[in-house]
Amino acid sequence: MKKLIVGNWKMNGSLAANQSLLDALKLAHPKSTDACGVAVCVPAVYLAQAQALLTGSALKWGAQDVSAHEQGAFTGENSGAMLREFGCRYVLVGHSERRQYHGETDAVVATKAQRALACGITPIVCVGESLAQREAGDTMSVVKGQLAAVVHAVGHCITEVVVAYEPVWAIGTGRTASPEQAQEVHRMLRNQLLAACGKASSTPKILYGGSMNASNAAALLSQQDIDGGLIGGASLKAQDFMTIVSAAQYQ
Ligand code: PEP
Repeated sequence: MKKLIVGNWKMNGSLAANQSLLDALKLAHPKSTDACGVAVCVPAVYLAQAQALLTGSALKWGAQDVSAHEQGAFTGENSGAMLREFGCRYVLVGHSERRQYHGETDAVVATKAQRALACGITPIVCVGESLAQREAGDTMSVVKGQLAAVVHAVGHCITEVVVAYEPVWAIGTGRTASPEQAQEVHRMLRNQLLAACGKASSTPKILYGGSMNASNAAALLSQQDIDGGLIGGASLKAQDFMTIVSAAQYQ
């Protein structure tokens, strides 16, 4: 399966910094390859800049969140239709920082995935367990439950999503899941998706996220069920991000 590497800038960047980062990425990844797709998920206020700089390039762009509502009195939110106008190919939904700091439940995440799909945007559905849940032996049931809510809501459109397994204890901590730990969860997610999709050829990609960097990417990406990466901190440095892209290309 073609790998996919997605950067999550989180709440970082400035017009000047974004310009030099995106210029460097375009230079390093001048054309689409069959081996790997590359995208960046930027703060919503920078979507116009991403669209201006990346249109016609091999890089796709996306947002970090989408409203669960279509339009109306939801101050501060951005609808799927708005993201579409700015050329978003992807949107993150259910990132652990949204679940943790903004109280997003599995049901809200599922509705957001539906809204994105309705607007022609691929939701990157993030799932993952906390450290306490892992230590209690609940990893599989937690992650399975989070994905099940989305499968239930989107039905046969599940083939159109991307899933990202991001153990919460590994995000921004420098602590990465070992390739074997990640593969074990990815295998379970693959089986769950297979059951939902009906045929193997249409199962969504499953990305790994959580302190993936230039040094550990190759080992993680070589696992059978790891189809790419969702990269936070390391996506802000052009060279590190492109090293991860190269690691994905040579799997
Ligand atoms: C993320 O924000 O999705 C992420 C994986 O962050 P980091 O790579 O910094 O752990």
